[in-house]
Amino acid sequence: MTEGLSREIFGNLDGGSRAVFYLLAFVSCAVFLWGIWRRVRLWRRGRPDNESINWRRACHNIRTRVLAQRSLRGSRPRASCAHRMLFWGFLALLIGTILVGIEHYGAAMAGKEAVSPLFHKGLYFVIYEITMEIFGLLLVGGAAWFVGRRFRADSSMEHRAADWLVIFSLVVLGVTGYLIEGLRIIRENTPLPGISFVGYGCSKVFAFGGVDQSNVSSIHFGLWWFHSIVAFGFIAALPFCRLAHAVAGVLSLAASPRPLGHMEPVTMAEVEETGEVGVGRLEQFERRDLLRLDACVSCGRCEDLCPAHEAGKPLSPRDLVQDLRGYMEAVSPGALHGETIGAETLWACTTCNSCADICPLGVRPVDYITDLRRHLISEGELRGAPAMSLQKMQRAGNPWGLPAQDRLAWADGLKVPTVQDNPGFDVLYWVGCSAAYDRRVMKVARAVAQLLQRAQVSFAVLGPEERCSGESARRMGDEFLFQELATANIHTFGKYGVKKIITHCPHCLNSLRQDYPQFDGHYEVMHHTQFLGELVAAGKLKAAAGMNGTVTYHDPCYLARVNDIAEAPRQLLPASMNEMPRHGCHAGCCGAGGGRMWFDDPVQERIGTNRITEALDTGAKTVAVSCPFCLTMMSDGLAAKDAGVQVCDIAELMAEEQSNQP
Ligand code: SF4
Ligand code: SF4
Repeated sequence: MTEGLSREIFGNLDGGSRAVFYLLAFVSCAVFLWGIWRRVRLWRRGRPDNESINWRRACHNIRTRVLAQRSLRGSRPRASCAHRMLFWGFLALLIGTILVGIEHYGAAMAGKEAVSPLFHKGLYFVIYEITMEIFGLLLVGGAAWFVGRRFRADSSMEHRAADWLVIFSLVVLGVTGYLIEGLRIIRENTPLPGISFVGYGCSKVFAFGGVDQSNVSSIHFGLWWFHSIVAFGFIAALPFCRLAHAVAGVLSLAASPRPLGHMEPVTMAEVEETGEVGVGRLEQFERRDLLRLDACVSCGRCEDLCPAHEAGKPLSPRDLVQDLRGYMEAVSPGALHGETIGAETLWACTTCNSCADICPLGVRPVDYITDLRRHLISEGELRGAPAMSLQKMQRAGNPWGLPAQDRLAWADGLKVPTVQDNPGFDVLYWVGCSAAYDRRVMKVARAVAQLLQRAQVSFAVLGPEERCSGESARRMGDEFLFQELATANIHTFGKYGVKKIITHCPHCLNSLRQDYPQFDGHYEVMHHTQFLGELVAAGKLKAAAGMNGTVTYHDPCYLARVNDIAEAPRQLLPASMNEMPRHGCHAGCCGAGGGRMWFDDPVQERIGTNRITEALDTGAKTVAVSCPFCLTMMSDGLAAKDAGVQVCDIAELMAEEQSNQP
């Protein structure tokens, strides 16, 4: 039944037309390659990447993140669906066109071009035609959705003329492809025209409009050339517009993604070589960072989730990336700091990592920010309270500048063992500076210690020998202060044979897990909610199961999003909790990360204000937290609203639960 089915390639085109076609194809490909080469030259202005390419990983990333489009997730489900349709449709049509090219070239080489097709016939041809019809619909549907979105008043997209042209040209390519197929069906009077079901429908419309054998060839010829010229224009324009992400985005996604919360260390050797710290000039970014500037499609997903932007601070991760891109392209760009990116923009970031987490193209705005901050710090351009906190960390080993001897004040009357008291401890309880010096957070450390004692865990604390983890110093850009603090702590850990650490601070947890191994500090690090969960599972403690319907839980960024610990805290809370709309790895930020804790913004101008409203809207009477920074920010925010809502760490709720047990 399928025997004899095929189609003539370049039907209705004489030798001259074919020669012009090949010439235009060559020119458009040459312009495309020239455009890509110009971008590659820009990317190569950066310093060589610290990591070499892991090809196996790159193949895996291309399969999962590009071809399966798994990097599109989270917000904007309709846009994600439309992009998948457009991408898969475009890819299938591209492969189909390449197959036709192979058939044509192969047949020409075999001298069979005018006699019979090589493989473009029979059953293969039927499957090919049906597949192209289906994927063509996906392309047109996806592209049409994006056109429609651009017409909507609430669209967050930029409206550059080139973007309109690009998205319209995709619709035009898809639609004219079907029209040409309809005309071909009339012209060739093909058997089984229904296999090209959309094209067949078009042929019926054309026939209704008076197109027949007498006039179809000229209409087909004109439309075919229109389609081809749009296609060549599209290929040539690709590197010069938003479509550059088709190349840069694939390369960005193929490169091994660094884990959220990861920061590259700066070595003294680098500083001695360059005389500079961080990024003060474009050339100091890694090449992959410059490549990612071209991957950004300015979709605004990062901006939607940025807590600093939401709070009206002068930071939009999208604008930051686009400004850096403009700087990379500029002929005489001026200064990077101050002129292109303002210091107030950089200091507004909480390093919550929402932008890096959501970006479908693997762009990490937060990494540019921390790299640029390092330069500001090295130039002494941080002033006021945050600068003081860094000085105090350096001088006293904690951001309050208080004596190390006071580090155990929180444990008064609890008989908490230090590493000297209990040298054979199984687990080190890392208390952190907040619990050591902040009166409210001290209660959290007391609750944790009481729970450990009740469960008869062999634990110890470093007491006066503990120093600040350096986490906020590093995220603020003071790399060498961080390294000084980290190496001091690693030395102390080594002295006491520390292998396993628990901490109630997600910032310390992340630093101990991700930063310390860069300096040979390798430990098993658990959040206290994970460890307490194990004790509950072992029947040694009870979860805080009471207060059904009166508790909500605020996920800390560095716990849920950065370290993927969202379930463990919930296992310790009532089953019927009042969840906030944004929770788990999508939770809103309290505003204290990235060193923002040490900025003295008035409460009403703080970054986490919307998070307070969200918590209040649940109607809960208790906001459970699992981070000392979140505890402070949420407590201050709720107190300012005089809402009569208490904020407690999960350990405090659990300690209360145990006190109600026999
Ligand atoms: S950085 Fe990523 S999420 Fe943000 S605008 Fe660019 S592509 Fe979109
Ligand atoms: S890390 Fe958070 S605060 Fe910083 S730019 Fe990204 S989304 Fe905004």
